Amino acid sequence: MATPNLSVVIPVYNEEASLPTLFARLYPALDALGTTYEVIFVNDGSRDRSAALLREQWERRPDTTRVVLFNANYGQHPAVVAGFEHCRGERVVTMDADLQNPPEEIAKLLVAMDAGHDYVGGVRRRREDSWFRRLASRAMNRVRERITRIHMTDQGCMLRAYSREIVAAVAASREVSTFIPALAYTFASNPTEVDVEHAERAAGKSHYPLYKLIRLNFDLITGFSLVPLQLFSMFGMLVSALALATYVVVIVYRLYHAAWEDAASVFWDRDILAFFLVGMMLFGLGLIGEYVGRIYHQVRARPRYMIRAVLERDAKEAVEREAKETVERASSADRR
Ligand code: UDP
Ligand code: MG
Repeated sequence: MATPNLSVVIPVYNEEASLPTLFARLYPALDALGTTYEVIFVNDGSRDRSAALLREQWERRPDTTRVVLFNANYGQHPAVVAGFEHCRGERVVTMDADLQNPPEEIAKLLVAMDAGHDYVGGVRRRREDSWFRRLASRAMNRVRERITRIHMTDQGCMLRAYSREIVAAVAASREVSTFIPALAYTFASNPTEVDVEHAERAAGKSHYPLYKLIRLNFDLITGFSLVPLQLFSMFGMLVSALALATYVVVIVYRLYHAAWEDAASVFWDRDILAFFLVGMMLFGLGLIGEYVGRIYHQVRARPRYMIRAVLERDAKEAVEREAKETVERASSADRR
């Protein structure tokens, strides 16, 4: 198979309800681009019929389809990394399988790449998600913008295009818990953004309940910034300084005006302050734990995922060739 101009990488986890519509819209949209392409689906250990549907699609379009099958669920971002490791295109586009990213929008990303950008991020113009998700995303985008050196408008949008160099760099990064759009951004020399449409989920429901969403955002923040840790040292220093100052003031006042204590007691509640500080300390401790836990994962250096099989034409030809050879061997044995 010659190297295609475009690879489209799509992680798939329990998307049996969306896949038929995705196939029906994605391939015509890619055909319309008039360029050579391949689509790489990474089945992230789906427990529904997704793997079977992907295999059927591969049999229908073996020339332009490749399927990486994980043996278990490792998460959306590891799935994208596997797609990066297996794709061959000069340009690589990532998108979701649930049709929230319209395949027709890929053309827009490619226009920006033609203009010389090596990284094109999508910005969901009118986001079709719950108000809670929109609010949380806005807050997290703001936090990331302030405490990392990664600048993007819409970190959650997976409809993005990357140059081959960036994809190779991401694939070579041995990071265990990562956030692809941010990691890729660190390798980009000329990034840009374009507005893209966004749709409601075609079928099924989001795979990100609150807990997974929080974990993902910890991956993003801890992966790209040490500021949270530094904030705690700053906060600790500030608290010590304030405590010292208060101590001096209190002692001085006690020496001169004993009655002042009544006024102070209006604002001064040691129990509440202690609760507040204990809360901050536990949060800080937990935060250190988040970093230490990730270091622990990283030093163990386990494989990030296991691939059960890869469906691709080369493999199909190999399988067919093998079958033919077996038949030939059998028939020549007959003749003997
Ligand atoms: N996904 C995945 N592994 C997971 C969770 C999600 O491969 O553990 C895929 C999913 O099939 C979809 C994309 O990642 O193609 C985005 O997931 P989803 O639409 O549930 O996220 P949301 O749009 O709610 O952020
Ligand atoms: Mg979605």
